[in-house]
Amino acid sequence: MPDRLPASASILIIGGGVHGLSTAWHLGRRGRPSLVLDKQGVAAGASGIACGVIRNNYFQPAMSELMAACVEVWESDPESLHYHGTGYVALGPPAQESDLIEVHERQQRIGYPSELHVGEDAVTQHMHSLYPDWRAPGLTVCLHEHAGGYAFNRESIRGLADKARAAGAEIREGAQVTGFALDGSGAVARVETNQGDIDVDQVVVAVGPWIASIWRMLGLPERIDVLQPDGEVRPDLPMWTYWYLQEGEVAFDPARFTTAAGRSSPVLHIDSDQPLHDDAGRLITAEPWGVYFKPDRRGVQGGAQPLPVGERFDVDPYPTGTVEPGFPDLWSAALSHCLGRFEGARELYRQVRSGGVGAFTVDNFPVFDYMLPNVFVAADSNHGYKMIAVGREIARVLEGEHSSLLHPFRFERFRTGDLHPVSHSPYPWS
Ligand SMILES: Cc1cc2nc3c(=O)[nH]c(=O)nc-3n(C[C@H](O)[C@H](O)[C@H](O)COP(=O)(O)OP(=O)(O)OC[C@H]3O[C@@H](n4cnc5c(N)ncnc54)[C@H](O)[C@@H]3O)c2cc1C
Repeated sequence: MPDRLPASASILIIGGGVHGLSTAWHLGRRGRPSLVLDKQGVAAGASGIACGVIRNNYFQPAMSELMAACVEVWESDPESLHYHGTGYVALGPPAQESDLIEVHERQQRIGYPSELHVGEDAVTQHMHSLYPDWRAPGLTVCLHEHAGGYAFNRESIRGLADKARAAGAEIREGAQVTGFALDGSGAVARVETNQGDIDVDQVVVAVGPWIASIWRMLGLPERIDVLQPDGEVRPDLPMWTYWYLQEGEVAFDPARFTTAAGRSSPVLHIDSDQPLHDDAGRLITAEPWGVYFKPDRRGVQGGAQPLPVGERFDVDPYPTGTVEPGFPDLWSAALSHCLGRFEGARELYRQVRSGGVGAFTVDNFPVFDYMLPNVFVAADSNHGYKMIAVGREIARVLEGEHSSLLHPFRFERFRTGDLHPVSHSPYPWS
């Protein structure tokens, strides 16, 4: 029989993913113990399936500043966090030049190490210097971030859990939150679980793709009006929408996915408007396409465009490993389109435990805010494996400090129109 859950907790954190555990770790470092509940276990959710890409390439100033802080946390303990600081390279067609130029300018201002190449010749020259077999045509902008890279998903989250425990947090797996009892002021007085009730002072909600169910339990609105920066109100929009992230792997020795200098490859993200053919010359798509890939433990892992799946989605059991029939062809062809070493990658494709669903907010950016007087919600809109510093900032806020990094992500922005700028990227992740 597992021990009974404590009858009370000063700070109760729901979710053993990156945000819950980072919050517990940083609270512990401040001398504040917390209780973390996870209905399944550490890394059971999106954090344990994420591709693990850690980058700063965001068009929105607030996202960019927050990511810089996140990279610092990853760099603070690469070993325990299974972090590989190989960097990140984003490449795009002419339509993305202005966005990446702006991102680069901001990175220079905030001291984030990156270099920019504009024009097809300059881009090709830079990529050839990194990879002698580079061969993707038509890319006219390249942002090469020298910080960031990737981490191994489950290992890193378990490492984070170890840090949280060492700092004094208690983590209880198999404990599911089923409801909340409010007091007269609208604050949560008691959290109900499948193993009994817990009296609480503060609650942190960090449940990733399960956010809609907890949101409902807290009595928060499922549809909202959003004031646009031009003054128009878009009424009755769904607070949560689901996208499915398609990811896969090729059984290509990661030790061969290196740069000309013999270093492990940076993460590569390519958006292209060029026709994509397979190795036999058959047309895969004439539409713009986008992919990302990186070395993984036993292969090369990555993904392509996410698929919108609507306003309702059953996240139990958590879905993983589903891709459109055309995904393996497209993704493998894109690898080979970029690097000669990946010719024949389609034969090496395997559908491993990867990919999954994410819950996106109404504007596709995170909500990090108090949603009830003592309930702080970390809903990262599926941007968040890399966002390991959010927990550090939540710990500050719970201690009564202000976080200028989290302030732009307050819920109130939907009412006041203080929204984030939107890039030219066709995907909800830039
Ligand atoms: C396929 C895929 C690839 C991704 N790749 C990247 C990437 O490369 N880089 C990046 O930055 N981001 C990536 N993301 C996004 C990222 O994974 C998520 O944004 C992030 O992991 C969310 O972390 P979290 O802590 O909020 O939630 P999760 O990691 O999902 O953790 C939530 C936990 O809450 C628990 N829980 C849920 N409901 C309850 C309840 N009622 N009671 C108790 N416990 C509960 C769950 O069991 C789960 O363990 C990816 C996402 C997906 C799906």
